Amino acid sequence: MKSSYTQIIEQTNLSLKQVRLLIVIGAALLAGFMIADLELLPESLSTVYIHSRVFMQLPLCGVFLLLSFHPLFLKHYQKILFFIMLSLVYVNYWVILTCWQLAQFAFPYEGTVMYSLFTLFVFRLSFKYGIAFSAIVIIGFALLITSYPIYGDQNSVNFGFVLVGLIVGLMGVKQVEIALKKLSKANIVLEKLSQTDPLTEIYNRRTYETRFSEQLCLNKRTEQSICVFIIDLDFFKDYNDGYGHVQGDKIIKLQAQHLTLLFKREADIVARYGGEEFIVIVSNVTEKMCVKFADAIIAQWQEAKVEHGMGKAGKYVTCSIGFHLEQVSKTSNKTAMVKNADKALYQAKQHGRNCFIQSKTNQDHCL
Ligand code: GH3
Ligand code: MG
Ligand code: MG
Repeated sequence: MKSSYTQIIEQTNLSLKQVRLLIVIGAALLAGFMIADLELLPESLSTVYIHSRVFMQLPLCGVFLLLSFHPLFLKHYQKILFFIMLSLVYVNYWVILTCWQLAQFAFPYEGTVMYSLFTLFVFRLSFKYGIAFSAIVIIGFALLITSYPIYGDQNSVNFGFVLVGLIVGLMGVKQVEIALKKLSKANIVLEKLSQTDPLTEIYNRRTYETRFSEQLCLNKRTEQSICVFIIDLDFFKDYNDGYGHVQGDKIIKLQAQHLTLLFKREADIVARYGGEEFIVIVSNVTEKMCVKFADAIIAQWQEAKVEHGMGKAGKYVTCSIGFHLEQVSKTSNKTAMVKNADKALYQAKQHGRNCFIQSKTNQDHCL
C-alpha cells in the first residue's frame, strides 16, 4: 500500500507532501508581506492590520495545514481549499474596509488577485470550484467598492483588473485541466502497451513476472496452492517453414485466445512467455482441477483441427504442457516452480508431444 505522502490528490497532480509544503510557503509569503505592508500603512492602522494577519489569516493557514492530516483531507481537498482561500480573501476585504472606515486609507486591492492566482494555479483549485470561487471573489469586491469610494475614480479600472485577472486565471485552469486529462489518458494507453504482448494482447513476460511475484506473496499469507502451466506448440518451427510466419502468428494468437477462454478468474495470470511458449499461473486449485485444465488445453486444439502435417508433425496443430502444482509455504520459490514446470514440459515433448506431464509426481498423461 502506498503511503499517504505519495498519494496524488485527484485533479491536481499534487502530492500531500507538496500541498503541506505549499501551505507553509503561502503562510511565509503572507508573513513576509507584513513587513512591506506595515511600511505603507499609517500607524493608526497597524493594530488592525497585524490583527488581521496574526489572528485571522495565519491561523487559517494553520487550520489548512492541520486539516491536511485528517484522513478525509484528500477526498475533500477541493472543498477545503475553496473555503479556506475564500476566507483569506474576505479577511483581506475586511482589512480594506476597516482601513477606509478608520483612516480613509485605500488599502491595495492587488492581494485579492494574488490570493486567487495562488488558489487556482499553485493549489490547483478545479475549474468547477474555480468558477464559484471567482464569482464570490468578484461579487465581494464589487460590493466593497460600490459601498465605499475607496479607490475613487480608479474604482472601475481596479474592478476591471480583478475581473480580468480572475477570467485569465480560469482560462489557464481549464487549459491545464484539459492537458492533464490528455496526459492521464495517454498514460493509461502507455501502461497497457507496456504490460501486454503486441501480437496476442495478453500479458507480456515482464508483467507476468510482477504479477506472479504479487500472487505468490498473497498466497504465502493465505497458504493457498499455486499451479504453473507452461504450454508450448508442437513442431512449430516446421509449421512456420511450411505455412510462413504470418500464418504462424495466427496460431500463436489462437493459442492465446484458447487460454484466455479457459482461465477466466481475475487472479489467473495468462502470459506469453516467449516465442510459441505460454505460461499460466492459477491459484487455489487442486491436482484434479489442474489435470482438468491441462486436458482442456489439449482438447481445444483437437477441436480446432488446424491443419499442420509439416515435418514430423501430425495432421493437426497440437501443444504440449508441463505443470507444477505446489501448496504454497514460506519457502516457495517462483524460479523453482517455473523450472519444475519447464522440466515437466520437456518430458512431455520426450513422450511424444500433444500431452501433459505434472512435475515431481511425473504423472504421465501421454499415450
Ligand atoms: P517442439 O515441438 O519441440 O516445441 O518444436 P518447435 O519447432 O515448436 O520448437 P522450437 O522451440 O525449436 O521452435 C519454436 C519456433 O517458434 C521457432 C520460431 O520459428 C517460432 N516462433 C517464435 N516466435 C514466433 C513468432 O512470434 N511468430 C511466429 N510465426 N513464429 C515464432
Ligand atoms: Mg514448440
Ligand atoms: Mg519452444
